[in-house]
Amino acid sequence: MSDFITEIMDRGIRNKGKYISFLKKLKNQRKLPLERMFKEAHNEAFSQIDCIECGRCCLGLGPRLTNKDVTRLARRERLNPADFINKYLRTDEDNDLVFKKMPCPFLGSDNYCFVYEDRPKACRDYPHMDHGRQTGRISLHIENLSYCPAVILAVEELIENDH
Ligand code: SF4
Ligand code: SF4
Repeated sequence: MSDFITEIMDRGIRNKGKYISFLKKLKNQRKLPLERMFKEAHNEAFSQIDCIECGRCCLGLGPRLTNKDVTRLARRERLNPADFINKYLRTDEDNDLVFKKMPCPFLGSDNYCFVYEDRPKACRDYPHMDHGRQTGRISLHIENLSYCPAVILAVEELIENDH
């Protein structure tokens, strides 16, 4: 993890209370164009952050896999879906398919994803700031303040623009 990412995560820890209060306030302001605001903040954050210097979501969080993800990844691994599930996945407490253990088995030591073109949809969509309705995602963004530096940068951008 680069010094830049470490600095952002440290700032996120120091200011977590402030960032959570701000996000909770946003949730109640239904007239704001939250989708556009989060998308712009997402783009600004990822113009500064290179995921290859981070890898935190692939190290610790892990995706939920859909049946389509399993089919695609199993084909890539030349396994049938049942064998792929036996080899790599478990069912979690919410009945979702997730990797047996983290870091993700497809994460390289250089933070590259071995299955990038066929990665699960949840990996493509993470951290969920540039698509879908954002009011329902505020709790997720609050959780992701502990994992994803791009979420921290995006929230800082939103706070900056709020003044
Ligand atoms: S499949 Fe790739 S993008 Fe998804 S968690 Fe694993 S390494 Fe990361
Ligand atoms: S999506 Fe966030 S946590 Fe994952 S590698 Fe990129 S910056 Fe890091």
